[in-house]
Amino acid sequence: LVVRPVSLSDVVDSTLALLRHKLESYHVDVLVEREGPLPEVMADPEQVKEVLVNLVLNACEAMGVGGTITIAEEEGHIAPQGRVTLLRISDTGPGVPETVRARIFEPFFTTKEEGSGLGLAIAARIMTEHGGWLHLASGQGRGATFVVGMPAKESGK
Ligand code: ADP
Ligand code: MG
Repeated sequence: LVVRPVSLSDVVDSTLALLRHKLESYHVDVLVEREGPLPEVMADPEQVKEVLVNLVLNACEAMGVGGTITIAEEEGHIAPQGRVTLLRISDTGPGVPETVRARIFEPFFTTKEEGSGLGLAIAARIMTEHGGWLHLASGQGRGATFVVGMPAKESGK
């Protein structure tokens, strides 16, 4: 893990650039909700990019052709972490059924014919290694929403 100060906004942009052709072939629209660049976190940008690639590809696979992925960038305060930066990644697919929900982060768990079942397990491990987290937000209506969170870099550190 080679960490340096990085804004998750830049990681979002480089992930979308990397996946541009894939997103076009799925006819998926991506909306980025950004008020300004997120404050920096200490992270290995390549690893965080891998997390976002996994989440975006899962969203594409869940939606099939068409649909919209929304990436909302947010700052917040939560105990005990203090200042945190969040990415809320939502899709317009069928969502995660209640029966499957508890197992999606298990290695090798997949509902796909040819899935590895490793994407979310690896993504969650990467976030934990960064002192952050990845979870599925409680489903309200259609679609799935995953939240990626990381502690903000302390100013002056
Ligand atoms: P894989 O993509 O190889 O199946 P993952 O670990 O990436 O493995 O995902 C595990 C399972 O979680 C998927 O098989 C699917 O059932 C569910 N899942 C993940 N992302 C979504 C999503 N955006 N919408 C609906 N279900 C999802
Ligand atoms: Mg996957």
